[in-house]
Amino acid sequence: IRKSGHLEYFHPKARLDDIGGLDRLKAWLQRRNQAFSEEAREFGLEAPRGVLLLGLPGTGKSLAAKAVANAWQLPLLRLDMGRIYGGIVGQSEENMRRALHMAETLSPCILWVDEIEKALSGMKSSGSTDGGTTARVLGSFLTWLQEKQKPVFVVATANHIEHLPPELLRKGRVDEIFFVDLPVEADRVEILKIHLRARGRRDEDFSEEELRKLARQAQCFTGAELEEVVKEALFRAFDDGRQLRQTDLADAIAETTPLSQTMHELIR
Ligand code: ATP
Repeated sequence: IRKSGHLEYFHPKARLDDIGGLDRLKAWLQRRNQAFSEEAREFGLEAPRGVLLLGLPGTGKSLAAKAVANAWQLPLLRLDMGRIYGGIVGQSEENMRRALHMAETLSPCILWVDEIEKALSGMKSSGSTDGGTTARVLGSFLTWLQEKQKPVFVVATANHIEHLPPELLRKGRVDEIFFVDLPVEADRVEILKIHLRARGRRDEDFSEEELRKLARQAQCFTGAELEEVVKEALFRAFDDGRQLRQTDLADAIAETTPLSQTMHELIR
């Protein structure tokens, strides 16, 4: 991993199989993979331009950005929109210019624009007066997105649609917009399996029925919260010096209040 302020460059290890649910997105990414080849170009296909992933924190958007880079065997450049603003006059514009130049130099690559909604609120967070900087930075990004010639596939991730620049949602800027929802019961089973497997448990350690029961109990949990449940349950079993049991997972679920529920209560 190479990191410099708002930019980070890496070859992630996450695979599409590490994502539970998000089936439509995974299928789309798998299909588009072939469109990068010379053969596809000769066949008349255009290289995919990008996707916008919208959804609650912890639902796997970042994981998807990493997994697509791995699946397509392309390097990943992460642009942290929250950190692009600030510094001396002209610095924000220069940060954006350098990021796009870097993406083109690395191409073919994936440019993951994290928290793209910050593109609009950047100056607020840096505390300085705007003077048109936000509009210029955002404008240069949107123009580049529209006109880019190099094979740079953009994965933009955001938590809130209402904070997004409307121009981004216009046709032609990205190929598709995916709403990443809370996982349904079958997805939650898959996510539990993925994280149990990642921590050395075998699929046969828990029956389908046991996992389904846990998934039903974990209603409204995000993928990140299910991962935390697995970690917490493992701690409990380790502390007691025994193997992991279904009850450890059930107890960890019972003691977790999912973020979506907290947010719901705050709104009411
Ligand atoms: P944020 O908006 O806060 O960046 P995010 O949607 O990008 O959130 P991730 O960072 O991808 O969420 O999720 C954090 C971790 O939770 C992931 O690295 C992964 O381990 C786990 N996770 C989240 N969603 C899933 C999922 N659908 N399948 C498997 N694991 C998941």
